Amino acid sequence: MNKGVFIKRIAVVVCGLFLVCAGQLSAGQKSHTVFFEGEENELHVYRIKGTIPGKTLLIIGGIQGDEPGGFLAADFYADFLLEKGNLIVVPRANFSSIVRNERQVNQDMNRKFLDDNISNYEMKVVKVLKKLICESDCFLNLHEGSGIYSDKWISQERNPKRFGQSIITDDLILDKGDLTQVIDLEKMAKQVIQKINKRILDKDNYFHFNNHRTSSPDSIHKEQLKSATYYAYQVCKIPAFGIESAKSLPLEKKVRQHIYAINGFMEILDIIPQTPGINLKKPEMEYMIISVNDSIPFVIGKMQHLNVNKGDVIQVHDVVANYERGLSVDVIGLGNQFNDMKKRLVINKSTRIEAKKDFYKCGSVFVDIKEGQVGVASYIKVKEAVASNVLQYKLKVNGKLKIVANYTHVQINQGDTLIIEDVLSGKTDPSKFIVNFKGFVGNSSNNSGEDRGYLIDTSKDVLMSRYSMKKKGRHYYILTTLNGKEVGKLFIDIQS
Ligand SMILES: [Zn+2]
Repeated sequence: MNKGVFIKRIAVVVCGLFLVCAGQLSAGQKSHTVFFEGEENELHVYRIKGTIPGKTLLIIGGIQGDEPGGFLAADFYADFLLEKGNLIVVPRANFSSIVRNERQVNQDMNRKFLDDNISNYEMKVVKVLKKLICESDCFLNLHEGSGIYSDKWISQERNPKRFGQSIITDDLILDKGDLTQVIDLEKMAKQVIQKINKRILDKDNYFHFNNHRTSSPDSIHKEQLKSATYYAYQVCKIPAFGIESAKSLPLEKKVRQHIYAINGFMEILDIIPQTPGINLKKPEMEYMIISVNDSIPFVIGKMQHLNVNKGDVIQVHDVVANYERGLSVDVIGLGNQFNDMKKRLVINKSTRIEAKKDFYKCGSVFVDIKEGQVGVASYIKVKEAVASNVLQYKLKVNGKLKIVANYTHVQINQGDTLIIEDVLSGKTDPSKFIVNFKGFVGNSSNNSGEDRGYLIDTSKDVLMSRYSMKKKGRHYYILTTLNGKEVGKLFIDIQS
């Protein structure tokens, strides 16, 4: 085992964890694995699994760094979701060569699949790719080729030695070895070529079938014995195709032709994409971009604290989350109750800024008033929330702030006003809790149970006494839950 080969990070998004997608046919699975993280040749592998089982197609782009038509096309499939079948996508097999815009760094990576013992990063990557190839049912290696392939010699730029505008195989057929299964590579390639050519307007740019006859003694492409497709053909015994768009074409044309080719192979392998893909992952804020007194905006991470002076003006410019759309912020106790994005708000007391994706709370940043003058440089000295298991309640009784401990009693008088400003917890983002005053409905149009921020005026008939102890309208409680489980209670005793 090569010591450099390791799986650093695996993120799996499974539909069904969030909202109500369980039971829907559109549910798909996806994983993203990073090999050699932090190294120049970092390798990203995306696996997409359809709801209905089926064949697995491997798409590799960028094995040679100066062929963007291939790796830019592969990129789009990394974000696919599937109804049926599976994809493994390696958009940039040779990232070190891509950042240099060169075919190779130490060696041609596509000539290292046969008995090559020269130890370098290319070898480590090829080791990973070999495994992926043998895991798959079909393999596409996306390239750009010089000139245009033609089975007859027409010109220097258009002849049997050229690669551009062709689908390459190593042979006409693939014999899996058990006599029962012979795969017609020529037929597969020609079916796809027909689909591609329907979309190409200029006949001179039509795709052609290009059989390298790699293992034949008289092959003019013997170097291909060391290629990835030949490894797929010879060792893994799967159909493998080199897709070559002509280098001389405009980039967008090259990318489109690769996309036609990939879609064509997906179609004949009965791999069906979701259109559009549905991915209801749990919303998570990463950071907010905030300015203080019109400073250059800076980044404050989830659960971090921002220090300001009393009277400073803050403005949230943007929220960065695992979604791009549907994002808003609520500066608690200030501005509008639902959306304070881009508003300039004067801070006179410590507060919290809550990020939401649509109606779903997805992260907080704390704003703390500091004693003494905080200079501009200190704003960005944000601190992490202090870890603490202790849950506390931040209440306002008749406009006066009160911090009270969990599972205690708070005495108020009939006629007092009460606002549950927030819960305080150093460990868990306050937006994750639901704080529910039993017997009070904060928002009747959306009864999520969440009652923070609402004015509870006991002089008015806003409490439902059937929720009080012995239904006497005297002893109520606030229930705090986290992921549906009780984590706290605060007892509110109303005295007449
Ligand atoms: Zn190439």
